[in-house]
Amino acid sequence: MTSNVKLDAVVKRYGARVATDQFSLVLEEGETIALVGHNGAGKTTLIKLVLGLIRPDAGTICVLGSDPARGDAEVRRSLGYLPENVAFNLALTGRETLSFYARLKGESGGVVRDLLEHVGLGEAGGRRVGTYSKGMRQRLGLAQALIGKPRLLLLDEPTTGLDPALRQHFYEIVRALRDEGCTVLISSHALAEMEGYADRVVIMDQGRKIADGSIDDLRRIASMPSRIRLRT
Ligand code: ATP
Repeated sequence: MTSNVKLDAVVKRYGARVATDQFSLVLEEGETIALVGHNGAGKTTLIKLVLGLIRPDAGTICVLGSDPARGDAEVRRSLGYLPENVAFNLALTGRETLSFYARLKGESGGVVRDLLEHVGLGEAGGRRVGTYSKGMRQRLGLAQALIGKPRLLLLDEPTTGLDPALRQHFYEIVRALRDEGCTVLISSHALAEMEGYADRVVIMDQGRKIADGSIDDLRRIASMPSRIRLRT
């Protein structure tokens, strides 16, 4: 397998606060990894580092063969990102929203139609985003992240606020992407909801990686902080 993401002893500080602490991670091509941790564990910081939105204070990061902070155009085009609180213009329809982002990426209108269908918004594409439920907005956010067929998809707590059925629907879409060969990193607060979807789970606590393995492996780890273990 080829590694799509490699972080080696990455440190990121905000003033005196250490958001990622000697963090190392390898994400192989086609893998789905869940990054699980409590509020403030450092999940968003890690995703921003992989995207090249922020630079590490120490350590090295390689994404699709280059340093993401260099902003290589080819690498940028290969990344899809769904931020934690994706904000849309509520007056635009779902279709107009995706068309806007598709134009930015040089994609055609046909892509928009296909993506709306793919995330189950085919019929709702003509409605204003302001009328969408939280789950529909998250799926629109996922469709936006999928414009340009990314090789690497980064989803930051995409299911927060969704009920269990909507979560499951969201993860079914992600699983289909994995089956098509896309590499996926999903952050979450809850280990249990990743069951059946993530190949591997990485647990983060206070900026450090404290566990890395399959969900079954992690259930056996006795040293897991209780606040994380309770969520399985
Ligand atoms: P959450 O689940 O609440 O989104 P998280 O695991 O994504 O949390 P981060 O947002 O990466 O965690 O934050 C890690 C730590 O870094 C926290 O202590 C946070 O307060 C701090 N932090 C994050 N961004 C900044 C910033 N721009 N300036 C200062 N401190 C920050």
